[in-house]
Amino acid sequence: MNRVYNFAPGPSMLATEVLEKVQKDLLCYGSTGMSVMEMSHRSKMYLEIFEKTVADFKDVMGVPEGYKVMFLQGGATAMFSAVALNLMQGGKADYIDSGNFAHNALVEAQKYGEVNVAGSSREDNYTYIPAYTLSPDARYVHITTNNTIYGTRYDHVPDTGDIPLVADMSSNILSEVYDVSKFGVIYAGAQKNVAPAGVVILVVREDLLGHELPITPKVMSFKKMADADSMLNTPNCFGIYVAGLTFEWLKKQGGVAAIEKVNIEKANLLYDFLDNSKLFKGTAQEKYRSRMNVTFVTGDADKDAAFVKEATARGLVNLKGHRIVGGMRASIYNAMPIEGVVKLVEFMKEFEMKNA
Ligand SMILES: *Cc1c(COP(=O)(O)O)cnc(C)c1O
Repeated sequence: MNRVYNFAPGPSMLATEVLEKVQKDLLCYGSTGMSVMEMSHRSKMYLEIFEKTVADFKDVMGVPEGYKVMFLQGGATAMFSAVALNLMQGGKADYIDSGNFAHNALVEAQKYGEVNVAGSSREDNYTYIPAYTLSPDARYVHITTNNTIYGTRYDHVPDTGDIPLVADMSSNILSEVYDVSKFGVIYAGAQKNVAPAGVVILVVREDLLGHELPITPKVMSFKKMADADSMLNTPNCFGIYVAGLTFEWLKKQGGVAAIEKVNIEKANLLYDFLDNSKLFKGTAQEKYRSRMNVTFVTGDADKDAAFVKEATARGLVNLKGHRIVGGMRASIYNAMPIEGVVKLVEFMKEFEMKNA
């Protein structure tokens, strides 16, 4: 059986080494006589896996002292609500509307307080990161560091002074180096760069714990979850274990700084080709191009469809753009090897010769 190059936006490719390790451990983890799926989350054997996963995440992400790391459920979407419930305190928050998920986050927050849309590129199809004006009295500022559907990325971390910066990093966590100390809260659904779906990583600065609205469901309370070490209820034990394997793999690759270089190289291969193509055109503004999700079109819906179909036959799969934007999108997260991108560019050249 041949594995394909899977350009899916999420759930997405995992490193082959990680999957092989999962396979090897599947029936019997170490000498436990059971699968990780069958372990109690309170058992000594599982707690060892859990604690190592947290420690390795802190290591690869560069999480400083004074932050709690949690592995929760409900995806990034649950965090849209949780952030507002825990931090808004009935006041106001600034949201930068840079994409579909950024928009979903602010719509959710509007249920719990006043949302100020500090900047938006919605009118322009989210092809860039908008300029923004922050409020002096916001409880926090919310950004989406990489916009998965539109293929854009912040080229800077907003300076919010003493106001906590909250970031949805679902589609670029651990793909580039971030100074975690600039953030109050970071969250990321794991199914793009880390693990199977069903785990959301949450990093919270400790002074931001314990300010939730009384109506906050306890599984969404940052403080209660931090105090219970993510185990107020049964966590996604297996997903967290796979996340741990990915962190180990990432360390072996040289960590985030090393993989960031590879990610830039991968993205440049595609963008350099797109910039010189007679058929394909990138859709995001150059300054804000994502290194994780490369969006492009031919300008002709039939050619787009033919491209996706022929690519699939070559083992280059899931290149269709999101249903709300059309065109194509190549998601090239950490686990996509550079050979996959080289093969994609080769195929694009060939398709262009026949169709331009
Ligand atoms: C995928 C994605 C989400 C949604 O994540 P779920 O885990 O499905 O809730 C939110 N934000 C961004 C930036 C994403 O890429």
